[in-house]
Amino acid sequence: TDDFFKNIISHAKEYGFVFPSSEIYDGLSAVYDYGQLGSELKNNLKTYWWKSMVQLNENIVGIDAAIFMHPTTWKASGHVDGFNDPMIDNKDSKKRYRADQLIEDKIDRYEKDGKTDKAAQLQQDLDDAITADDLVRLKVLIEEHNIVCPISGTKNWTEVRQFNLMFATQMGAMAEEAEKVYLRPETAQGIFVNFLNVQKTGRMKIPFGIAQIGKAFRNEVIARQFIMRMREFEQMELQFFVRPGTEMEWYEKWKKTRLKWHMALGANPTKYRYHDHVKPAHYANAAVDIEYQFPFGFKEVEGIHSRTDFDLKQHQEYSKKKMQYFDPEINQNYVPYVVETSIGLDRLFLTVLANSLVEEDLSTEDKKDSRVVLKFHPAIAPVKAAVLPLTKKDGLPDKAREIMTKLKLDFNIQYDEKDAIGKRYRRQDAIGTPFCITVDYQTLEDDTVTIRHRDSMEQERVPAADLRNIISGLVSW
Ligand code: ATP
Repeated sequence: TDDFFKNIISHAKEYGFVFPSSEIYDGLSAVYDYGQLGSELKNNLKTYWWKSMVQLNENIVGIDAAIFMHPTTWKASGHVDGFNDPMIDNKDSKKRYRADQLIEDKIDRYEKDGKTDKAAQLQQDLDDAITADDLVRLKVLIEEHNIVCPISGTKNWTEVRQFNLMFATQMGAMAEEAEKVYLRPETAQGIFVNFLNVQKTGRMKIPFGIAQIGKAFRNEVIARQFIMRMREFEQMELQFFVRPGTEMEWYEKWKKTRLKWHMALGANPTKYRYHDHVKPAHYANAAVDIEYQFPFGFKEVEGIHSRTDFDLKQHQEYSKKKMQYFDPEINQNYVPYVVETSIGLDRLFLTVLANSLVEEDLSTEDKKDSRVVLKFHPAIAPVKAAVLPLTKKDGLPDKAREIMTKLKLDFNIQYDEKDAIGKRYRRQDAIGTPFCITVDYQTLEDDTVTIRHRDSMEQERVPAADLRNIISGLVSW
């Protein structure tokens, strides 16, 4: 499984999906750039999310709030005082770790070794210590379970300290005028502060939702697992405002809806599970993670929280502005309750890569053969079709370009005439292109082409004039 994860990372780099940021300067820790195919895939995932939230639901609208927000936002939300991770240093290696992650790694090791009771007990102790914000207890657990530094192999640990994850910078040119502002660590607050703007101008009636896709920044203590834990990442969040007392109904509904959404991407259901939080965060009365089985274990991809009226009440208190809604059905004013769904776009991207990358053995009796394929759902594939003239002569390239011109307004199409046709098919398989359109001598005579399907590798002959309809039928949801 380690090898599989390494394959994903190297495939992503080799084919232009993900590059380390500023790679010529040896990269920047936990920051990545999306390449020519990665940005297409990412855009397609955003579109899929946006359409299923905003376009399919009459009572959900989208916004695009700024990354910078008034500093008081983060006092009200609790991030200035409470958005911390417990960190610990090893005195020998001088390396810094997250105390809770060291313990989680130990739990994984207990599980691998079949010590399930021990794993469960430690998980329980960890949850208790985290909920109680008990740093001393975390240190004790690290000592009791003989957790050593992965680098130095020693147990020479410092105390556990809190580390705030928000990036701060200064606003304004003059130092004395400057005020400390933060790069938002979540997109949700941009929705809460705009709750009344949207509700009033959009004449929204509860229940309704506000959706947003945007960057968030967290100064994660350690960088791990490729685009799983980044310092700059993208979130897709929905805040759904409901009448107090109905929140659990909506929470259950969104919990189901969101898992279905993942399944509709063509995912293997056995790779997903819910992880209910026994003790949700301070702002929530119920919480569940949708977890995906990555090569390194089940990890959160999306979180669903019943956030109560915590955020709106806090903003009401700090801003002294009423955050109330008048509900004509029951003739009452109230601060709405909120159910949130929050998914990391980069983590979703990683699940899609992990779900799609396969190496297929195509060996026959006389010949060893294999191919690497990204089996993306056609709707999210970065390139929808490749147009390939069988040879570089006799007017086939011109004919191929003519066909491509008719398709490229509707789909992202690649043209490729280099190398033997079989090799070109393999190149398209490796980037997940669902269809290869081959232009041959018969095309010049009767305007038909072959269309090769990525997964079955089957080919059929169709009129070139039908291509647009055929492709649209196959790449839509
Ligand atoms: P974790 O426990 O893994 O740190 P979290 O519980 O802090 O995640 P949330 O605050 O619930 O995460 O954020 C919602 C979603 O944002 C997560 O489900 C995840 O997909 C994504 N996310 C959070 N932190 C990161 C990160 N550093 N890099 C990439 N995606 C992230």
